[in-house]
Amino acid sequence: MSARQRVAIRVRVDPIACDAYGYCAELLPERVTLDEWGYPIVDGTPVPAELVELATRAATDCPRRAVLLERVVVGR
Ligand code: SF4
Repeated sequence: MSARQRVAIRVRVDPIACDAYGYCAELLPERVTLDEWGYPIVDGTPVPAELVELATRAATDCPRRAVLLERVVVGR
């Protein structure tokens, strides 16, 4: 990793585990919206620092533990 790179997180959802409770979209509408059946549509771009706490809450509050946070290296 170079000096210009940093570690960020992005949100993923396990579609098998998800049961369409919708809490993730309520907590993190900047990255998660719901389709017509209530299943999440996730924007997988890195989460800005000011939203990391909400992303973490979306992961911990998901009743199905279907919200996954991935570490990614961004920048070059
Ligand atoms: S909170 Fe969990 S179970 Fe509910 S829609 Fe989001 S990922 Fe699916």
